[in-house]
Amino acid sequence: MERTLSNSRPVVATVDTAALRHNARRIRQLAPGCSIYAAVKANGYGHGAQLVTQALANSVDGFAVIEIELAVALRRSGFTGPILVLEGLYEFVDVETFVAHDLEAVVHCIEQVDWVARYRGMSLKVWLKVDTGMNRLGIPASHFDTMLARLRSSPGVTLCGVMSHLAHVDNHSSVDQQIRRFKALQIPPEMPRSLASSGAVMRYPTTHLDWVRPGLMLYGISPLLDSTGADWGLRPVMTFASRVISLREIMPGESIGYGETFVAVRPMRVANVAGGYADGYPQSAPSGTPVLVDGVPSRTLGRVSMDKLCVDVSHILTVKVGTEVIFWGAQLPIERVAKAAGGSPYELLSHIAGRVRLESV
Ligand SMILES: *Cc1c(COP(=O)(O)O)cnc(C)c1O
Repeated sequence: MERTLSNSRPVVATVDTAALRHNARRIRQLAPGCSIYAAVKANGYGHGAQLVTQALANSVDGFAVIEIELAVALRRSGFTGPILVLEGLYEFVDVETFVAHDLEAVVHCIEQVDWVARYRGMSLKVWLKVDTGMNRLGIPASHFDTMLARLRSSPGVTLCGVMSHLAHVDNHSSVDQQIRRFKALQIPPEMPRSLASSGAVMRYPTTHLDWVRPGLMLYGISPLLDSTGADWGLRPVMTFASRVISLREIMPGESIGYGETFVAVRPMRVANVAGGYADGYPQSAPSGTPVLVDGVPSRTLGRVSMDKLCVDVSHILTVKVGTEVIFWGAQLPIERVAKAAGGSPYELLSHIAGRVRLESV
């Protein structure tokens, strides 16, 4: 039987939906009593937004996204809980989309306050975002009282809460300073507050407040330096894997791949694997980046190509064309691969390419 063409390449990202739900339960343990916005921007951190939101719909309280289109699609799919749009409106006309689909807009600058205050319809839901030190999005703390008062007196606006974002979860004193600035704001006591993304959910209980906004940890990954998700009781959700498509023996002095960056010093057996930077494997990964071949630890050799990479299988006698190669997953934490490649797990996940097959188990 002829194969369906969409399945022709063996590069697959397998998404473990039970692990997603496990991680959501773990977040509830770490942040008891808090409501959870699951961050599913950037196509669910590369895991497939539809797959992730379906798997989590009954395990979290709301979803947080960047893309208004993703928010609308999620609402159309039947999810009835809160959907927070993290950059809010880009222009005044966007208010119609937010109201039509009952989306919550983050209002992070004075221009946005002007737009939403101008709105004369019914019940535009907003979160006011304050800058407590990251100097990215958020109104300055010095404007907080005025902006809060304007939003509260705007007839079309329903104020859902006040939020801020942490700049450096590996640095206690930076987090402490931001917490102090946030707590110094005159936020009405009944108003919901939100500050924590993954790193803060894991390490700083005082940031938990009413709503936490975890992303990376839902996918089983730690954003904190020198730890992996497993250290925090999380289960990696994605296994990114492919297969060997050819094998060869090379002699000392022979090089491998573009630029001849790796030169063998002894006879070696080398496997060529389908999967390169056009699939989302980082081109910055140097020779020596860890992989698992047939479950056995090994390493990449030479430069990563657009569609392929090479791995050392000198010590793995079982390898044939068709043998599985895991780029990252439960047995090989993405944190280790990101470190070797000089990037972050966030970057690796968000580069998973559209041509990679997403499968769920
Ligand atoms: C992406 C994002 C999050 C989630 O961050 P993680 O580090 O992945 O947990 C939370 N809040 C905001 C504002 C974000 O943009």
